[in-house]
Amino acid sequence: MKKIFCLLLSLAFLNVSLLDASEISSNHENLRNIIIDPAHGGADKGRVGKMGLLEKDVTLQVSLHFKKLASEELKMNIVMTREGDYDVPLEKRMFPSMEGDSSFFISIHTGPEYSEMLNGLGIYYLNSETIREELTENNESEDLEAEKLLRDMALSEYANKGERMAELIERNLIKIIPNHEIIVETLSESILSDINKPGVLIEIGNITDPEVEKKLNDRGYIDKICKAILNAIKEYDEKE
Ligand SMILES: [Zn+2]
Repeated sequence: MKKIFCLLLSLAFLNVSLLDASEISSNHENLRNIIIDPAHGGADKGRVGKMGLLEKDVTLQVSLHFKKLASEELKMNIVMTREGDYDVPLEKRMFPSMEGDSSFFISIHTGPEYSEMLNGLGIYYLNSETIREELTENNESEDLEAEKLLRDMALSEYANKGERMAELIERNLIKIIPNHEIIVETLSESILSDINKPGVLIEIGNITDPEVEKKLNDRGYIDKICKAILNAIKEYDEKE
């Protein structure tokens, strides 16, 4: 009798747990803003291809095309850190004006900046461990324990969300452009450690490789890259 009671109690507990889990997943906070960052701009050309293609022009073209596709398909604000060929102060790039929280930051580069070997695509997210160590080393004054804990939680959250989005982008890129080398790695030093929100940085190809430069000049290729990122955001938003 006692055993049955325990079993019923466990089942009741399990039921409540399942209910809680489904409630949590149905109440998940959808993404409100996608911040798309066309890296470089103005005097900062970024990397230059052998045929003269400039990284700053490719990143802008990709971002504008992404914004067009995303505005039609996503119920989110698409915020760009620049919409033309001009310098953007780092502060403005990191904290673009927008409404509400729940944002995801996507920085577009053509590299090779983060991987010298790259002939394919690189997707990067925050390395929270290294950032955490640096913050602790450089912190002269002792933070309050509660503050430290909150900061650690935030860093872990950004890293986890970045990793999840990076994996979804990788999966969608493999579907749309098979036979391309794709790497997913963490970064210690990049804009991702300063933005105070989850994000990824994508090198959509090494512009200094003439074969890749040709692709980066091809609207069809750019369209495929943008669609893979768009599909990844949809999946991320559904599952979050
Ligand atoms: Zn770059």
